[in-house]
Amino acid sequence: MAQRLVVIGGDAGGMAAASQARRQQPDLEIVALEKGPWTSYSACGIPYLVGGDIDSIDRLIARSPQEFRTNHRIDARVNHEVMAIDLQARSLEVRDHEHDRTYKLGFDILHLGLGAVPIRPRLPGMDTAHVHGVQTLTDAAELLEDVTTGSEVGDVVVVGGGYIGLEIAEAFIKRGCHVTVVDQSPEVMGTLDPDMGALVSKAMRNEGIEVRCNETVEGVDGEYVLTSSGHIKADLVVLGLGVAPNSKLASDAGVVTGVRGAISVDQRQHTSADGVWAAGDCCESFHLISRRAVYVALGTVANKQGRVAGTNIGGGYAVFPGVVGTAVTKLCSTEVGRTGLTEKEATAAGFEFATATVQSTTRAGYFPGTGWITVKLVAERVTGRLLGAQVVGQEGAAKRIDVLATAITAGMTAEDVVGLDLSYAPPFSPVWDPVAIAARKAVDAVIRRG
Ligand SMILES: Cc1cc2nc3c(=O)[nH]c(=O)nc-3n(C[C@H](O)[C@H](O)[C@H](O)COP(=O)(O)OP(=O)(O)OC[C@H]3O[C@@H](n4cnc5c(N)ncnc54)[C@H](O)[C@@H]3O)c2cc1C
Repeated sequence: MAQRLVVIGGDAGGMAAASQARRQQPDLEIVALEKGPWTSYSACGIPYLVGGDIDSIDRLIARSPQEFRTNHRIDARVNHEVMAIDLQARSLEVRDHEHDRTYKLGFDILHLGLGAVPIRPRLPGMDTAHVHGVQTLTDAAELLEDVTTGSEVGDVVVVGGGYIGLEIAEAFIKRGCHVTVVDQSPEVMGTLDPDMGALVSKAMRNEGIEVRCNETVEGVDGEYVLTSSGHIKADLVVLGLGVAPNSKLASDAGVVTGVRGAISVDQRQHTSADGVWAAGDCCESFHLISRRAVYVALGTVANKQGRVAGTNIGGGYAVFPGVVGTAVTKLCSTEVGRTGLTEKEATAAGFEFATATVQSTTRAGYFPGTGWITVKLVAERVTGRLLGAQVVGQEGAAKRIDVLATAITAGMTAEDVVGLDLSYAPPFSPVWDPVAIAARKAVDAVIRRG
């Protein structure tokens, strides 16, 4: 009899594994259980839906349950929530919300693509109707309704200045709202060093966003957000406070968890439990520079880990080498990229390092449309090995981080990057690309004393 693979979670980490396992093993029986109404959707597109760049929620759905059933022979069941895992009996308790029934489903192999849960602080007023999370397409539909129906949304307060907070702030600016972003840190974008975060705060203010850093939200009282420094009027409050791994179902069943409660996996995405695999926002990753387990909740990682898990489930052999923490975002005309370790992270990992920051232009200085760009590199002292990089600038800035992510992954030194045969033509960069200029400065910095 064919083995049965059950996948919990119908998005990137789950369905990438299911699809890859199907490619490897035509005979496998595959059931995918998703508690929401959608499969394979792009949460990454939510801010652009809310901002009006994308005209319908359907555009964010890559593959429907019907497509999985017909084209991939994957029995994708939406509105089916797994309530408990029994590893000994190799069985799940499943709640079918559509038909209001609960049933048991056995498995030979289990794959966990449980994702993450948004952080929602336990503060007064946080459960009020005008306080929204931004994680699921249901959240997206609610936010969209608020901005497109007759209801007056004038003042929007975004709690949290991470990349989701920024993208949502941009969405509401595009909708003509007055937007305030509140963050308890000294600068927005806590995944950057504060000097680079300050460039983003400045760019936000230039776009008309009120940025209130070093300020803590203490609750919501009617149409006001209460903070450590006063109160801010809000017709709508959006929480962008990051996520935590959705691992409770797994840990309750005895699956080992690690950093921040994320499910521990080996390089092949296998968990501590026999025949149980995991991928995506519910599990840990290995950081290639700090050589430590980290929690990085990104779609890029979820898709790759899912594919690796699916290959292994299907009888092949694949490993997920790890991450360097590469991410990009944009706030109106300002782009942001980061990879590797920040100064704080490099210190925590025990490195001695130097930094180099340069200002340059995105195209040749004389070319129409050229914009500003700041590149910061973190490089190990003496060896010159690149440890981290951050980029803030205008159009064309963000994706430069991919060159640096590649260099960091390959263990290249700043000197190696100076010598790279990078492309040049006036519409794309100055003759010395800002990445190479920063690397030149880093070469000097790592050998300087003090
Ligand atoms: C607004 C926003 C913007 C983003 N932008 C980017 C970006 O630009 N780039 C990037 O790389 N990443 C981005 N991300 C992150 C990215 O969306 C996630 O990393 C990715 O979706 C993770 O995929 P996943 O399958 O692990 O988790 P999820 O997408 O969260 O999927 C997990 C699924 O499991 C289901 N589930 C959970 N528990 C159960 C259960 N008990 N039974 C059945 N089903 C269950 C959930 O309903 C969910 O559908 C963004 C996220 C958000 C919210």
